[in-house]
Amino acid sequence: MNFKLNSILRPHILSLTPYSSARDEYTGREGVFLDANENALGSATVANYNRYPDPYQWAIKERLAPLKGVRPEQIFLGNGSDEPIDLLIRATCTPEQDSVLVMPPTYGMYEVSANINNVPLIRIPLTPGFQIDLPVVLAAIQENTKLLFVCSPNNPTGNLIDRQAVLSLLEQFNGLVVVDEAYIDFADTESMTALLDQFPNLVVLQTFSKAWGLAALRLGMCFASEELIRVLNKIKPPYNISAPTQELALDAIDHVTQKEEMVAKILAERAVLSEKLLSLPLVQQVYPSDANFLLVRFDQPGGPDAKTVFDHLISQQVIVRDRSKVKLCEGCLRITVGTADENSRLLEVLSQMKVLERA
Ligand SMILES: *Cc1c(COP(=O)(O)O)cnc(C)c1O
Repeated sequence: MNFKLNSILRPHILSLTPYSSARDEYTGREGVFLDANENALGSATVANYNRYPDPYQWAIKERLAPLKGVRPEQIFLGNGSDEPIDLLIRATCTPEQDSVLVMPPTYGMYEVSANINNVPLIRIPLTPGFQIDLPVVLAAIQENTKLLFVCSPNNPTGNLIDRQAVLSLLEQFNGLVVVDEAYIDFADTESMTALLDQFPNLVVLQTFSKAWGLAALRLGMCFASEELIRVLNKIKPPYNISAPTQELALDAIDHVTQKEEMVAKILAERAVLSEKLLSLPLVQQVYPSDANFLLVRFDQPGGPDAKTVFDHLISQQVIVRDRSKVKLCEGCLRITVGTADENSRLLEVLSQMKVLERA
C-alpha cells in the first residue's frame, strides 16, 4: 500500500496558516524579551512562571526520544492523550462525512471525541476472546474511513491485541492506525513505536498518566511520522503544555528507574491480587491482564451479581469501575491494582459477601 498522508488530511488543514507565536518568531534564550506581553516583574506566587513555555517542549522530546527509540521530531506532546485523539480526528475527518472505526469494548474517549466532532463512528466489536475481528473490520472500512483506533493493552479487558492483526491493518488500511499503548509499561511486549519508520500510517499513543504516576499533570505522548507530527503541531493550541508540567515531566524522565520500580511492584501485586480474587467463591473469572487493572467476572450462580458487589464495595468506600452493562464484559467489574494495603482491603470487603448455598 502506498500511503499518502496528504490524501487523508482535510483540505483546509493542508492549506492552513498556523498561529505564529512570539516564541516561534524568536527562539533564542538570551535577550530582553519585550515580545510576548508577559509580566517582566515576576509572578503573583512563590515561583516565577511569568514567561510562556516552549511551545514544542524540545527539552522533554530530546530526553524522551532515546528512551523510546524514536527521533524528537516523531514526538507530539498533548494535554493528556485526549488532545492527540481529538487533533487526529480534527486533522483527518470532515464532520458528517469521514468516519472513525472503533472496536468495543474499548476506551470510551475515541467515541466521545468522534461525537464531539460530529464524525460518524463505525463500531466493530472485538471477538469474544477480545481480539480484532479482522475480516469484519476490513469489510467495514469505507472509502471515507480515515482513522482506526486499536487499544493495546485494551481497556477495560486488560489484554494485548494480537500484533499480527495490527500489522495486517497497517498493511491494508489506507488511513491512520492509532495504537493506544497507555498500559504498555505493564505488558511484556515491545512498543509498536519500533515500526514507525516502516509504516507511515502508524500512530502510537502513550501517556504519563499510568506507569509514570502523573495523571494529574495531563501529559500524553503521540509518536508518528515527522510529517504527521508537523500537522499536529500546526493545529494544536500554541502553548498546550504548561511550564510546570514540562519541568515535572523532565524530572520524572530523570528518575525513570523509579517508574520501573513502581511498575515491578504493581506487577507483583497484580499477580497476588489475581490469585486471591480467583479463590473467592463469588468470583467467577479473573481475566489475564497485561495492564495495571484486572477485569473480574462476578455473577456466580447463587452469588450476588456484579452490580450488587459494586454497590457493596461503594458502601464500604472501595471504589471500582462497573463494566457489567458493557457488551462482552457482562457481569464484570474493572479493578485497578492498588497498594498491598488497598488490595487487602478490597479482598476483605469482598470476602464478607456470601454466596448462597444452592438448594
Ligand atoms: C488512561 C488511558 C489513557 C490516558 O489518558 P490521559 O488523557 O493521557 O490521562 C489513554 N488511553 C487509554 C486506553 C487509557 O485507559
